[in-house]
Amino acid sequence: CGIVGYVGAKSAQDVVIEGLRRLEYRGYDSAGIALVCDGALAADKRAGKLANLESAIAEHPLPSSTIGIGHTRWATHGAPNDVNAHPHLGAQRRVALVHNGIIENYAELRRELENSGAELLSETDTEIAAQLLEGELASGNGLTAAMTAVCRRLEGAFTLVAVDAEDPDRVVAARRNSPLVVGLGEGENFLGSDVAAFIEHTRNALELGQDQVVTITRDGVEISDFDGNPAQGKEYHVDWDLAA
Ligand code: GLU
Repeated sequence: CGIVGYVGAKSAQDVVIEGLRRLEYRGYDSAGIALVCDGALAADKRAGKLANLESAIAEHPLPSSTIGIGHTRWATHGAPNDVNAHPHLGAQRRVALVHNGIIENYAELRRELENSGAELLSETDTEIAAQLLEGELASGNGLTAAMTAVCRRLEGAFTLVAVDAEDPDRVVAARRNSPLVVGLGEGENFLGSDVAAFIEHTRNALELGQDQVVTITRDGVEISDFDGNPAQGKEYHVDWDLAA
């Protein structure tokens, strides 16, 4: 439902939680966050309001990090509970992934994963994408190439945003039939399901086109299509004001 991604110099936890709060107007049933810290993922996710996630984090603080992703979920596949909340992690806890939308061919992909011995923890369509992504990384692809390869296998509507525990410098996202916007900063960049996710930090935005993958680092943004060919988004300036 709502998505935030960040890489920069600020506390990713603060940027992500604040972004999720700005996206609350969309309605949701669960919320979660994942950060990359010292070669590992730190994540927490909770059914219910963002306040539930915030008090869980207050009780069990996450390590400080300057790269992370967050999600507010509107359940379509699987009940709104802690396990089905996003982010979903790969089996080796190398990848964390959040997703808006519906992966139409998920049952077939789930069977394929289970036949090859994968254990899935949740009932979501999203977790299969997390496992596929981690499989691509394990076979030697970087996060961008891995995302591109996974997207070629997915049908339906999706905005996906992922981080790799072994790569503290990039957040990778993709979209088909579901919105995704990049927020362009100085020494930092943002991802959002809409500009409300990052509007207090920057008003320079880049809208992704259909079937595109975007990689954000602290200093740059790179876009390709699902075949890996360079592509372009549409830059614009957000000139409206948000209610406080
Ligand atoms: N289909 C996914 C799920 O049920 C994502 C739902 C959403 O867009 O929040 O978990």
